[in-house]
This record gives sequence, C-alpha cells and structure tokens, in this order.
Amino acid sequence: MLDLLIRGGDVVTPQGVGRWDIAIEGERIVALGVPEHALEAGRVIDATGKIVVPGGVEPHTHLAHFISMQPEENLHTLGPEEDTRGMVFGGTTTHVDFCFVRPGTDVQQVIETRAARWKGNSYADYSFHVALQGQLPLKVFDQIPEAIQAGFPSFKVFTVEVLPPHPKRHPYRLDFGRIQLAMEKVVPHGGLMVVHAEDQDIVQFMYEKFREEKQTDGWLLPLVHNKLSERAAGYPIYAETLHHYTCFTAEDYKTPRGFCYHTYPSLKYPEDQAALWNGLVRDGISTTATDEFPTSLELKLRGQDLENVTGGNLGAEARMGIVYSEGVVKRRMSLERFADVTSTNAARILGLYPRKGVLAPGSDADIAIIDPAIKKTLAREDFHVSDYSPWEGWAIQGWPVTTILRGRIVVENRRLVGDRRDGQLVARKISPEVLRRPAC
Ligand SMILES: [Zn+2]
Repeated sequence: MLDLLIRGGDVVTPQGVGRWDIAIEGERIVALGVPEHALEAGRVIDATGKIVVPGGVEPHTHLAHFISMQPEENLHTLGPEEDTRGMVFGGTTTHVDFCFVRPGTDVQQVIETRAARWKGNSYADYSFHVALQGQLPLKVFDQIPEAIQAGFPSFKVFTVEVLPPHPKRHPYRLDFGRIQLAMEKVVPHGGLMVVHAEDQDIVQFMYEKFREEKQTDGWLLPLVHNKLSERAAGYPIYAETLHHYTCFTAEDYKTPRGFCYHTYPSLKYPEDQAALWNGLVRDGISTTATDEFPTSLELKLRGQDLENVTGGNLGAEARMGIVYSEGVVKRRMSLERFADVTSTNAARILGLYPRKGVLAPGSDADIAIIDPAIKKTLAREDFHVSDYSPWEGWAIQGWPVTTILRGRIVVENRRLVGDRRDGQLVARKISPEVLRRPAC
C-alpha cells in the first residue's frame, strides 16, 4: 500500500499540467498519472481545486549571518530554526545558504561548522554555497575540487565590497586574479560560480563622492549601487532575481518603512522592473531567490544612511505566493514557467535536480499545494518569521496551503505539523549540460 496519495489537483510537471494523482512511498514519488484502478494509501490528500507544484527551491539565503551594516555590534540574522519555518509555510522545501571561506579558515572547516549549525535546526532541506572572500592564501583554492566532490559545487564571489571598508567588517570582495584562479579550479571539476557582479571602483567611488558632498541619506543607494556598476562575467550565465526587485522600486526607499525593501544591489526603477518581469514570464531570468537576511524590523530600519542601511530581505516565506500572484495571476505566467522559476531551474543550476525541483517518479516527494481561490490582503498573521513582513498590506490571489517534505506533511492547510529536525543536508552535483550551455 502507498503511504500517501495526492488526488484531484492540477499537477504541474515538465510535460504539462494535468489532473493526475501523485503516489508516494516513503520519501519518494513512485507514480504520477491517472491510475487504472483506485489506489489505496495510508493517507489521502484531496487536492481538488488546488494547484500542485514541486516544493520551492530557494537558492539564496543568509541565515545566522553577521550583520556588517552595524559592525560595532555583534549582531546576526535569524537562524534556520526560525526562518525555515516560514519557508515551509510558503511552500519552499529546500534552501541553499552560504559558508564563508576567509583568510585563516579552510573550505572543509567552514562547511562542517555551518552544517553543524543547521543539523536539527531546519524545517526544510538545505545545502551551502562556498563563498570565497578576501586575500585568501592561494593554497586554499586547491581544496575546491574536494568540496565539489563532497556535494558542494557552487562558489560565491563578490567583485565588489558591498559597503565601505571598516575594521570590523569582513572582506567580501575577491580580486579578479583570485576569481580567475577559482574559475580554473571550479570549471574542470564540474562546479559553478555564483557572482555578485557589481563594479568595485564605481560603487566605492560613489560612497566617497557622497561622503565628501555630505549626502548620506539611504535613499541615495540606487545612485551608489547604480546601473552602471552591474555587469556580468563568464559564460554560460544564469540570472537570478528577487521577488522584492519585481515589486518595489527606488521610490519606496522614501516611504516610512522604505528600507525594509532594501538589498544589495539597490532597488531600481519601473523600467527595470518591467524588464525583470519580462525575463521571468518569458525567458532570460532563470530563477527567483530572496537573498534572505532575516532580522527584526527595528534592526532592519535602524540604519538610515548610505553606509549603514541593513541589506538583505525577509521574504523566503512569501516567495512562491508572491510569484504566483504577481506572475501567474496578474501577468499570465504559465504554471510550467512558475514551477521553473520557483523550483526546477534553481534545482538544475545548483545540482539538486532531478532529486529536487520536479514532480516525477523517483524524485523526492517535495510538494507545495497552492489554493488559487485565496484572495486577500496579506497581514502580519499570515507570516511566521520575525516581527514584520515587507508584504504586509499586499493584495494577493492564490497562496500555498500545504507543504510536503520528502513524503512527510510539514504544513497542512496553513498549520505547521513538521518540526525543525525534518530538514536534511542534501549533496549536490551539477549536470555537465548545465555547465556547457544555458540549459534553462
Ligand atoms: Zn546574498
């Protein structure tokens, strides 16, 4: 007998959308389709009238992360035990955070430290990008192939110091020589570079210029982290955007809670937003992420000046619901495309596919069920992380209601039934196709 059967929903797969049953045994999907005779299962979920999609893959979070905008205080973002609770409420079943290799550390050590921090503390499955930062000794780069082999094939680099230098700020930027060295080690072993690609000279020059002009207001951020500073390097390139960038603009900085929408690079302008939607709905942008950096509202709004506005977002919980409501309902994004930009593409690019990111026999039974009939203005009680959400007051149509992680129901009809020991570390391996040419 099956363990779990999801019946009657509109199921979104790479082959199309259909009213199919999903049969689950243990942690895996074992069959998907129209059964010839009635199936029996220990548990049946009636998904009539609902949309059934692959559990979300959130490719970009910074949980339990040092807050460098307030360098004098030793502050950190909320940890996985709080933030991933919101993720599963919002239909996301896997996230990829970061471990930071800085001078004085090594790759394996930082992976082990982060993995130990997450173990038993995550409601969703997880992995880590390896971030390479600062004047790293060259021998550190020799550890890259081993990390790829161990299931950590993505390497984050910054081409920019996001903030001006400060003695208590960790370095972010990796110089182009070291980026070249990293690429030489990453490419032949089947890894991938993840690049925050702003121009160091332009961004630091603009900080200096505004400091000299005694202009310090935080809303000037789009002139510091400006359009000219953003560029890309390498090939093939996969683009990520954030649902925040698609919904808020630089004008929002001037509203009372305006900096709660900020992340680096800055919010931009309506024409940029239109381009992002075009890329998400049609083609050109592969995935949505959050750049999750969860803090209290007080901390998020504490800095009001160019050099201390808190970056990052709180929105991993809202990501799938917002992209559904703004993309599928308002902008006619297809359901297949919705699954691509919230789950499948991130899973493919980061080497989680086909275990994650797709509803198919053999895949993990990671499933989000969306109720398209929910129509409401989001309020504080719709969220389960920290003490605010940038999305309070936002009108939506359609929202995730039930989430299944490896066959286990973790959220049922907006009620949490999972716990923080459910999440597991997932080893990743990137398909050569993804590395050879743009595959999604
Ligand atoms: Zn980030």
